[in-house]
Amino acid sequence: MLNSIYKQIIKKIKEYDVIVIARHIGPDPDAVASQIALRDMIKYNFPNKTVYAIGNSVAKFKYLGTLDKIDDTTLEHALLIITDVPKFERVDGANKTSYDYTIKIDHHPCDEKVCDIELVDTTASSASQLIAELVYNTRIKINSDIASKLFTGIIADSDRFLLSYTTSKTIELCAKLLNDYKFDLMTLYNNLYERGINERKFEAYLINNINITENGFGYLKIDNETIKEYNVDASTAANLVNNLNFIKELRVWAFASYDEKNALYKINIRSRGITINDVAEEFNGGGHKFASGARLKTEEEVDALFNALDQKCLESMN
Ligand code: AMP
Repeated sequence: MLNSIYKQIIKKIKEYDVIVIARHIGPDPDAVASQIALRDMIKYNFPNKTVYAIGNSVAKFKYLGTLDKIDDTTLEHALLIITDVPKFERVDGANKTSYDYTIKIDHHPCDEKVCDIELVDTTASSASQLIAELVYNTRIKINSDIASKLFTGIIADSDRFLLSYTTSKTIELCAKLLNDYKFDLMTLYNNLYERGINERKFEAYLINNINITENGFGYLKIDNETIKEYNVDASTAANLVNNLNFIKELRVWAFASYDEKNALYKINIRSRGITINDVAEEFNGGGHKFASGARLKTEEEVDALFNALDQKCLESMN
Protein backbone atom coordinates (compact mmCIF):
# COMPACT_ATOMS: atom_id res chain seq x y z
CA MET A 1 0.00 0.00 0.00
CA LEU A 2 2.64 2.54 1.08
CA ASN A 3 5.00 1.43 -1.67
CA SER A 4 2.34 2.12 -4.24
CA ILE A 5 1.81 5.65 -2.83
CA TYR A 6 5.58 6.31 -2.99
CA LYS A 7 5.56 5.13 -6.63
CA GLN A 8 2.59 7.34 -7.49
CA ILE A 9 4.25 10.37 -5.89
CA ILE A 10 7.52 9.85 -7.80
CA LYS A 11 5.57 9.28 -11.03
CA LYS A 12 3.75 12.61 -10.62
CA ILE A 13 6.99 14.42 -9.74
CA LYS A 14 8.51 13.04 -12.95
CA GLU A 15 5.45 14.11 -14.94
CA TYR A 16 5.45 17.82 -13.98
CA ASP A 17 8.08 20.41 -14.94
CA VAL A 18 6.84 22.99 -12.48
CA ILE A 19 6.36 21.93 -8.87
CA VAL A 20 5.38 24.10 -5.91
CA ILE A 21 5.77 23.00 -2.30
CA ALA A 22 3.82 24.68 0.48
CA ARG A 23 3.31 24.07 4.21
CA HIS A 24 1.28 25.47 7.08
CA ILE A 25 0.96 29.07 8.25
CA GLY A 26 2.92 29.95 11.38
CA PRO A 27 5.57 27.38 10.45
CA ASP A 28 7.73 25.34 12.82
CA PRO A 29 11.09 23.74 11.93
CA ASP A 30 9.44 20.54 10.61
CA ALA A 31 7.12 22.48 8.27
CA VAL A 32 10.02 24.47 6.77
CA ALA A 33 12.54 21.59 6.82
CA SER A 34 10.13 19.21 5.09
CA GLN A 35 9.23 21.65 2.30
CA ILE A 36 12.82 22.80 1.67
CA ALA A 37 14.24 19.26 1.85
CA LEU A 38 11.60 18.13 -0.63
CA ARG A 39 12.32 21.04 -2.99
CA ASP A 40 16.08 20.43 -2.85
CA MET A 41 15.59 16.68 -3.23
CA ILE A 42 13.51 17.12 -6.41
CA LYS A 43 16.06 19.58 -7.84
CA TYR A 44 18.93 17.21 -6.94
CA ASN A 45 17.33 14.28 -8.77
CA PHE A 46 15.68 16.21 -11.61
CA PRO A 47 17.85 19.30 -12.24
CA ASN A 48 15.75 20.47 -15.20
CA LYS A 49 12.60 20.95 -13.18
CA THR A 50 11.50 24.28 -11.73
CA VAL A 51 10.70 23.77 -8.07
CA TYR A 52 9.54 26.40 -5.59
CA ALA A 53 9.14 26.22 -1.82
CA ILE A 54 6.71 28.98 -0.87
CA GLY A 55 5.16 30.72 2.14
CA ASN A 56 6.12 33.59 4.42
CA SER A 57 9.74 33.37 5.42
CA VAL A 58 10.62 33.30 9.09
CA ALA A 59 13.98 34.87 10.01
CA LYS A 60 14.75 32.34 12.76
CA PHE A 61 14.53 29.42 10.30
CA LYS A 62 16.85 30.99 7.69
CA TYR A 63 19.43 28.29 8.45
CA LEU A 64 17.11 25.77 6.79
CA GLY A 65 17.39 27.59 3.46
CA THR A 66 15.61 30.37 1.63
CA LEU A 67 12.05 30.29 0.35
CA ASP A 68 10.85 31.30 -3.10
CA LYS A 69 8.49 34.11 -4.00
CA ILE A 70 5.98 33.36 -6.75
CA ASP A 71 2.54 34.36 -7.93
CA ASP A 72 0.99 30.93 -8.37
CA THR A 73 -2.10 32.27 -10.18
CA THR A 74 0.08 32.68 -13.30
CA LEU A 75 1.31 29.05 -13.29
CA GLU A 76 0.22 26.56 -15.91
CA HIS A 77 0.34 22.77 -15.61
CA ALA A 78 1.88 22.83 -12.18
CA LEU A 79 1.95 20.25 -9.40
CA LEU A 80 1.37 21.32 -5.79
CA ILE A 81 2.74 19.32 -2.86
CA ILE A 82 1.69 20.36 0.64
CA THR A 83 3.69 19.11 3.62
CA ASP A 84 2.90 19.09 7.35
CA VAL A 85 -0.59 20.50 6.88
CA PRO A 86 -3.92 18.67 6.80
CA LYS A 87 -6.26 21.19 5.14
CA PHE A 88 -6.08 24.03 2.64
CA GLU A 89 -7.36 26.63 5.14
CA ARG A 90 -3.97 26.38 6.88
CA VAL A 91 -1.76 26.25 3.80
CA ASP A 92 0.51 29.30 3.52
CA GLY A 93 0.48 31.00 0.12
CA ALA A 94 -0.86 28.40 -2.33
CA ASN A 95 -4.17 28.64 -4.22
CA LYS A 96 -5.38 25.11 -4.79
CA THR A 97 -7.23 26.10 -7.98
CA SER A 98 -3.96 27.16 -9.67
CA TYR A 99 -2.75 23.55 -9.85
CA ASP A 100 -3.46 20.62 -12.15
CA TYR A 101 -2.65 18.06 -9.49
CA THR A 102 -2.13 18.03 -5.71
CA ILE A 103 -0.24 15.79 -3.27
CA LYS A 104 -0.27 15.86 0.53
CA ILE A 105 2.52 14.52 2.77
CA ASP A 106 1.42 14.89 6.38
CA HIS A 107 1.17 13.39 9.85
CA HIS A 108 -1.86 15.31 11.21
CA PRO A 109 -5.18 13.57 11.73
CA CYS A 110 -7.74 14.60 9.08
CA ASP A 111 -11.03 12.96 8.08
CA GLU A 112 -11.28 14.54 4.63
CA LYS A 113 -9.33 13.75 1.49
CA VAL A 114 -8.13 17.15 0.20
CA CYS A 115 -5.48 16.16 -2.39
CA ASP A 116 -5.31 13.76 -5.34
CA ILE A 117 -2.61 11.66 -3.67
CA GLU A 118 -2.19 11.59 0.10
CA LEU A 119 0.73 10.16 2.02
CA VAL A 120 -0.71 10.53 5.53
CA ASP A 121 0.56 8.67 8.57
CA THR A 122 -0.65 9.98 11.91
CA THR A 123 1.78 7.67 13.70
CA ALA A 124 4.79 9.41 12.12
CA SER A 125 6.71 11.88 14.27
CA SER A 126 6.91 14.51 11.56
CA ALA A 127 6.46 15.36 7.90
CA SER A 128 10.25 15.16 7.59
CA GLN A 129 10.09 11.54 8.75
CA LEU A 130 7.61 10.76 5.96
CA ILE A 131 9.95 12.31 3.38
CA ALA A 132 12.90 10.35 4.79
CA GLU A 133 10.77 7.19 4.44
CA LEU A 134 9.96 8.14 0.84
CA VAL A 135 13.69 8.54 0.15
CA TYR A 136 14.63 5.19 1.68
CA ASN A 137 11.83 3.34 -0.14
CA THR A 138 12.55 4.65 -3.65
CA ARG A 139 15.55 5.30 -5.88
CA ILE A 140 15.54 9.00 -4.97
CA LYS A 141 18.96 10.29 -3.93
CA ILE A 142 19.77 12.96 -1.39
CA ASN A 143 22.95 14.64 -0.18
CA SER A 144 24.28 15.55 3.24
CA ASP A 145 22.59 18.96 3.27
CA ILE A 146 19.15 17.52 2.49
CA ALA A 147 19.68 14.71 5.01
CA SER A 148 20.56 17.24 7.72
CA LYS A 149 17.31 19.12 7.04
CA LEU A 150 15.25 15.95 7.34
CA PHE A 151 17.06 15.09 10.57
CA THR A 152 16.37 18.61 11.89
CA GLY A 153 12.64 18.31 11.14
CA ILE A 154 12.40 14.93 12.87
CA ILE A 155 14.39 16.04 15.92
CA ALA A 156 12.39 19.27 16.27
CA ASP A 157 8.93 17.70 15.94
CA SER A 158 9.67 14.73 18.18
CA ASP A 159 11.38 17.10 20.64
CA ARG A 160 14.52 14.96 20.58
CA PHE A 161 12.48 11.73 20.84
CA LEU A 162 10.63 12.93 23.94
CA LEU A 163 7.16 13.06 22.43
CA SER A 164 4.76 10.17 22.14
CA TYR A 165 4.96 9.99 18.31
CA THR A 166 8.51 8.71 18.63
CA THR A 167 8.86 5.10 17.48
CA SER A 168 11.77 2.80 16.72
CA LYS A 169 11.28 3.84 13.08
CA THR A 170 11.89 7.51 14.03
CA ILE A 171 15.13 6.66 15.81
CA GLU A 172 16.25 4.21 13.11
CA LEU A 173 15.71 6.80 10.36
CA CYS A 174 17.71 9.40 12.28
CA ALA A 175 20.55 6.94 12.83
CA LYS A 176 20.46 5.99 9.15
CA LEU A 177 20.50 9.61 7.96
CA LEU A 178 23.42 10.41 10.25
CA ASN A 179 25.35 7.30 9.30
CA ASP A 180 24.76 7.63 5.56
CA TYR A 181 25.33 11.39 5.22
CA LYS A 182 27.62 12.35 8.11
CA PHE A 183 26.43 15.92 8.65
CA ASP A 184 27.70 17.96 11.58
CA LEU A 185 25.41 17.47 14.57
CA MET A 186 26.84 20.34 16.61
CA THR A 187 26.09 22.89 13.87
CA LEU A 188 22.61 21.44 13.52
CA TYR A 189 21.88 21.63 17.27
CA ASN A 190 23.29 25.16 17.51
CA ASN A 191 20.96 26.29 14.73
CA LEU A 192 17.99 24.56 16.27
CA TYR A 193 18.45 25.31 19.97
CA GLU A 194 20.57 28.42 20.46
CA ARG A 195 18.47 31.15 22.13
CA GLY A 196 19.02 34.64 23.48
CA ILE A 197 19.06 35.03 27.26
CA ASN A 198 15.84 37.10 26.92
CA GLU A 199 14.04 33.99 25.66
CA ARG A 200 15.35 31.87 28.53
CA LYS A 201 14.16 34.56 30.95
CA PHE A 202 10.78 34.52 29.24
CA GLU A 203 10.70 30.75 29.75
CA ALA A 204 11.34 31.34 33.47
CA TYR A 205 8.47 33.87 33.43
CA LEU A 206 6.15 31.23 31.93
CA ILE A 207 7.05 28.66 34.59
CA ASN A 208 6.80 31.20 37.41
CA ASN A 209 3.42 32.49 36.31
CA ILE A 210 1.50 29.50 34.99
CA ASN A 211 -1.78 28.87 36.85
CA ILE A 212 -2.50 25.24 37.70
CA THR A 213 -6.00 24.03 38.52
CA GLU A 214 -6.75 21.18 40.89
CA ASN A 215 -7.52 19.07 37.80
CA GLY A 216 -3.97 19.39 36.49
CA PHE A 217 -4.67 22.00 33.84
CA GLY A 218 -2.02 24.72 33.47
CA TYR A 219 -2.84 27.96 31.67
CA LEU A 220 -1.39 31.37 31.08
CA LYS A 221 -2.44 34.42 29.08
CA ILE A 222 0.57 36.28 27.78
CA ASP A 223 -0.22 39.93 27.15
CA ASN A 224 1.43 42.33 24.81
CA GLU A 225 3.32 44.20 27.54
CA THR A 226 5.00 40.98 28.69
CA ILE A 227 5.94 40.05 25.13
CA LYS A 228 7.51 43.52 24.73
CA GLU A 229 9.18 43.45 28.16
CA TYR A 230 11.02 40.23 27.32
CA ASN A 231 11.71 41.38 23.76
CA VAL A 232 10.18 38.21 22.27
CA ASP A 233 7.36 37.83 19.75
CA ALA A 234 3.91 36.29 19.86
CA SER A 235 5.20 33.00 18.46
CA THR A 236 7.90 32.54 21.13
CA ALA A 237 5.54 30.83 23.58
CA ALA A 238 4.89 28.21 20.87
CA ASN A 239 8.61 27.38 20.84
CA LEU A 240 8.62 26.99 24.61
CA VAL A 241 5.38 25.13 25.27
CA ASN A 242 7.04 21.70 25.00
CA ASN A 243 9.50 22.69 27.73
CA LEU A 244 6.74 22.33 30.33
CA ASN A 245 6.49 18.62 29.55
CA PHE A 246 7.10 16.24 32.46
CA ILE A 247 6.08 18.77 35.14
CA LYS A 248 4.40 16.41 37.58
CA GLU A 249 1.43 18.69 38.35
CA LEU A 250 0.57 19.33 34.68
CA ARG A 251 -1.52 16.94 32.60
CA VAL A 252 -2.71 19.48 30.05
CA TRP A 253 -1.33 22.99 29.63
CA ALA A 254 -1.98 25.92 27.32
CA PHE A 255 -0.65 29.37 26.53
CA ALA A 256 -2.61 32.19 24.94
CA SER A 257 -0.29 34.80 23.41
CA TYR A 258 -1.74 37.97 22.03
CA ASP A 259 -0.59 38.64 18.48
CA GLU A 260 -0.93 42.40 18.06
CA LYS A 261 -0.15 42.37 14.34
CA ASN A 262 -3.02 40.00 13.51
CA ALA A 263 -5.24 41.05 16.46
CA LEU A 264 -5.80 37.51 17.69
CA TYR A 265 -4.79 35.10 20.41
CA LYS A 266 -2.51 32.22 19.41
CA ILE A 267 -3.16 29.22 21.59
CA ASN A 268 -0.67 26.41 22.11
CA ILE A 269 -1.95 23.35 23.91
CA ARG A 270 -0.03 20.28 25.05
CA SER A 271 -1.02 17.18 26.98
CA ARG A 272 0.49 14.19 28.69
CA GLY A 273 -2.04 11.52 27.80
CA ILE A 274 -5.41 13.32 27.61
CA THR A 275 -6.76 13.81 24.07
CA ILE A 276 -7.01 17.55 23.34
CA ASN A 277 -7.44 17.97 19.59
CA ASP A 278 -11.19 17.30 19.90
CA VAL A 279 -11.45 20.29 22.28
CA ALA A 280 -9.26 22.44 19.99
CA GLU A 281 -11.51 21.55 17.04
CA GLU A 282 -14.58 22.78 18.92
CA PHE A 283 -12.83 26.16 18.94
CA ASN A 284 -11.99 26.09 15.25
CA GLY A 285 -8.45 24.86 15.92
CA GLY A 286 -6.96 21.40 15.65
CA GLY A 287 -3.73 19.43 15.62
CA HIS A 288 -2.54 16.16 17.07
CA LYS A 289 -3.99 14.15 19.94
CA PHE A 290 -1.51 15.57 22.46
CA ALA A 291 -0.32 18.78 20.70
CA SER A 292 -2.89 21.19 19.37
CA GLY A 293 -3.49 24.85 18.68
CA ALA A 294 -6.13 27.43 17.85
CA ARG A 295 -6.44 31.10 16.90
CA LEU A 296 -9.10 33.03 18.75
CA LYS A 297 -10.43 36.57 18.35
CA THR A 298 -11.60 37.40 21.88
CA GLU A 299 -10.53 36.88 25.47
CA GLU A 300 -13.96 35.34 26.18
CA GLU A 301 -13.22 32.60 23.65
CA VAL A 302 -9.83 32.02 25.28
CA ASP A 303 -11.53 31.64 28.69
CA ALA A 304 -14.10 29.26 27.21
CA LEU A 305 -11.36 27.10 25.65
CA PHE A 306 -9.38 27.06 28.90
CA ASN A 307 -12.54 26.02 30.79
CA ALA A 308 -13.22 23.23 28.30
CA LEU A 309 -9.66 21.94 28.70
CA ASP A 310 -9.92 22.04 32.49
CA GLN A 311 -13.20 20.17 32.22
CA LYS A 312 -11.53 17.55 30.02
CA CYS A 313 -8.88 17.05 32.72
CA LEU A 314 -11.60 16.67 35.35
CA GLU A 315 -13.55 14.14 33.25
CA SER A 316 -10.44 12.07 32.65
CA MET A 317 -9.98 11.65 36.42
CA ASN A 318 -13.40 10.01 36.83
P1 AMP B 1 1.66 24.67 17.91
O1 AMP B 1 1.23 24.78 19.32
O2 AMP B 1 1.51 25.96 17.14
O3 AMP B 1 3.01 24.05 17.79
O4 AMP B 1 0.66 23.66 17.19
C1 AMP B 1 0.51 22.34 17.61
C2 AMP B 1 -0.25 21.56 16.56
O5 AMP B 1 -1.56 22.11 16.40
C3 AMP B 1 0.39 21.61 15.18
O6 AMP B 1 0.29 20.31 14.65
C4 AMP B 1 -0.45 22.57 14.38
O7 AMP B 1 -0.52 22.23 13.05
C5 AMP B 1 -1.82 22.46 15.06
N1 AMP B 1 -2.49 23.76 15.06
C6 AMP B 1 -2.02 24.90 15.62
N2 AMP B 1 -2.89 25.92 15.44
C7 AMP B 1 -3.94 25.42 14.75
C8 AMP B 1 -5.16 25.96 14.23
N3 AMP B 1 -5.48 27.26 14.40
N4 AMP B 1 -5.99 25.14 13.55
C9 AMP B 1 -5.67 23.83 13.37
N5 AMP B 1 -4.55 23.26 13.83
C10 AMP B 1 -3.68 24.02 14.50
